Amino acid sequence: MLKITDLRAEIDGKEILKGLSLEVNAGEIHAIMGPNGAGKSTLGYTLGGRPNYEPTGGSVTFDGQDLLELAPHERAAAGLFLGFQYPVEIPGISNLHFLREALNSQRRARDEAPLSGGEFLKLARAQADALGMDVEMLKRPVNVGFSGGEKKRNEMVQMGIIGPKLAILDETDSGLDIDALKAVGEGINRIMRAPDKAVLLITHYQRLLDYVQPDFVHVLADGRIVRSGGPELAHELEREGYGILAA
Ligand code: ADP
Ligand code: MG
Ligand code: MG
Repeated sequence: MLKITDLRAEIDGKEILKGLSLEVNAGEIHAIMGPNGAGKSTLGYTLGGRPNYEPTGGSVTFDGQDLLELAPHERAAAGLFLGFQYPVEIPGISNLHFLREALNSQRRARDEAPLSGGEFLKLARAQADALGMDVEMLKRPVNVGFSGGEKKRNEMVQMGIIGPKLAILDETDSGLDIDALKAVGEGINRIMRAPDKAVLLITHYQRLLDYVQPDFVHVLADGRIVRSGGPELAHELEREGYGILAA
């Protein structure tokens, strides 16, 4: 589904990704761990096509398409979803309005019929219910005044409504209490654990991986994947710290 080969990327002329390779197949969940400043968020932003994150070498294919050639909205329409460490607030635009516009513009780009207001509301209610979020919250402006946990639950509702093929979730577990962590973990499993979907889960901690079992764990350090393994690698890192990488 996703094939990253020797990817290099820079921010403001400074090289951050220094030849990163990674392959993700449909049906797989990959965790990306690594020390602060390693380039984890840069990887997510570069794949998402964020301005100022400039790919300078290597290649990325997503479902056989050259991902780096696509505009950000085309990447989303192709099935790529990015969850951010710090979700944006959008005053004046309700969650429901925002999500219906996002979903329907993606559907139109794929030559699928847009959902009617009624169809969309039914989908939104079902996803909010599944996350234990009051649907009234979806009438409020996007993320404005939401607590950290509410923003992350909201992000899972967004993901459930959009229904992406590949989700890249950057520190979706940061600042969550145990209940929110569990809800988010269950949301990821429910929405994304499927033979035709895949997840890149960027996380500092093992604890989210107690809820979402990764198939593969990779360590990103200084702009490259320096180690890959199974779920046991996350436990090893939790026990030993990133110091073991130097060994
Ligand atoms: P991680 O998510 O692994 O903690 P980041 O991808 O956020 O790491 O950052 C990787 C490196 O890029 C860090 O050294 C950081 O200081 C640098 N960096 C991030 N944003 C910018 C920026 N806007 N300009 C220059 N350097 C940046
Ligand atoms: Mg960081
Ligand atoms: Mg980061």
